[in-house]
Amino acid sequence: MGDPIWTIMNANWKLDSARSRRQRRNWRLLLLLVVVGLGAVISSLFSISEPGSSEHELVAQEKPAAVTPVVPTIALPQGPVIVTRVVAPGDNLSAIFDSVKINQTVLFQILAADESLLALDILRLGNRLTFTLDEKTGELEKMELFIDLAHQIIYRRVDENLFDSEEIILPGVWKNQTVEAEIDGSFYASALAAGLSEQETGNITSLFKGKLDFSRDIQAGDRFQVVRSLQFVDDQATGQSHIEGIRFSTRNHYYSAFLFADGNYYDENGESLAQVFLRYPFKGHHRVSSPFNLRRMHPITGRISPHRGVDFAMPSGTPIMATADGEITRVKNHPFAGKYIEVKHDGQYLTRYLHLSRINVKRGQKVKRGGMIARSGNTGRSTGPHLHYEIHIKRRAVNPLTADIPLMAAVPKERFKEFKQMVVKLYARMEHVNDAHDGT
Ligand SMILES: [Zn+2]
Repeated sequence: MGDPIWTIMNANWKLDSARSRRQRRNWRLLLLLVVVGLGAVISSLFSISEPGSSEHELVAQEKPAAVTPVVPTIALPQGPVIVTRVVAPGDNLSAIFDSVKINQTVLFQILAADESLLALDILRLGNRLTFTLDEKTGELEKMELFIDLAHQIIYRRVDENLFDSEEIILPGVWKNQTVEAEIDGSFYASALAAGLSEQETGNITSLFKGKLDFSRDIQAGDRFQVVRSLQFVDDQATGQSHIEGIRFSTRNHYYSAFLFADGNYYDENGESLAQVFLRYPFKGHHRVSSPFNLRRMHPITGRISPHRGVDFAMPSGTPIMATADGEITRVKNHPFAGKYIEVKHDGQYLTRYLHLSRINVKRGQKVKRGGMIARSGNTGRSTGPHLHYEIHIKRRAVNPLTADIPLMAAVPKERFKEFKQMVVKLYARMEHVNDAHDGT
């Protein structure tokens, strides 16, 4: 993964360069028609316009007098047409493509490019799609999905039948904020009143399940402090946030949770609050038929086409288990990923299970580590019965076989000092609610 800003610049450069090549072609066409009789002098004058600066250089020619009488009589070449759609209630991808007059074949090519991201499977209200169309043929050259200020996907045409995809995640600036409040009524109501979002409040409730009975252990007059981190891009909040630390102070107890560098939450003693993961979503052993590889070369196109999960060859019908406690966030059937499930776990984890034959769970259902959620299969674009398994930490797919996921119930001994230092820092922030802090 390169520097994302560089990636954008690079992408823009590629676009500019493609555009100016086209423009240069157009200019040459004009020349053929117009300049034929004017001899080699003018012709050589035009041909030195270089990609990336064609318009500018044409204006800045050293001998404009010979050229300018010709140009105004001919319509200037137009750039590609850009159409924007913002996702509204009741929208789906197919209807949006129809409205831009892009046919189903191209929609399927885009879905194929999205197989490794599955970003188009959930369109949220307010997500923006831009379509870059060839000005003459109306053919789709590029589609961009803007998920939030810091998250964008670009689908770019590679050839007649193929698009590739590029995910851009801007790091942004993370700013810490401490929220403190007294319980008045339920924790849920008090947290919302204090300014936490529904999602943050839900995450906290889920995190303390099993440790804390919110209706019995928390009473009016108890207090809580939350240190949260909010993401900004160009001083605008992206809507992304996470809880860095939380402490409940009740009459008899402190209950606390701290987010550690591994994406998991631990109490102040370093004991895991959230689930411990299973390394494999099945019992026994199954051969890895295709490893995790972000630079995988596509066997047919020869292009880099990331494999964001690991494939295990296994007979169809093999029981598949959730690798940690969580909630089912997607149950989908995708033309290329097949029947698949996504599970959101406490902390900053997400898992996906693709090409299933049977699904035993519904969206919104809570699942337990080791609980059977599906049977493996061969659905979607699949060369044989296998399970494609993904783990995402902080929105990025990582290698499920080697990822730094909590497999043990406590912070490992060798990292305990680092963990304790973080706890001390977060406690200090909880004590100084009104001070502003930059994110770390
Ligand atoms: Zn796979």
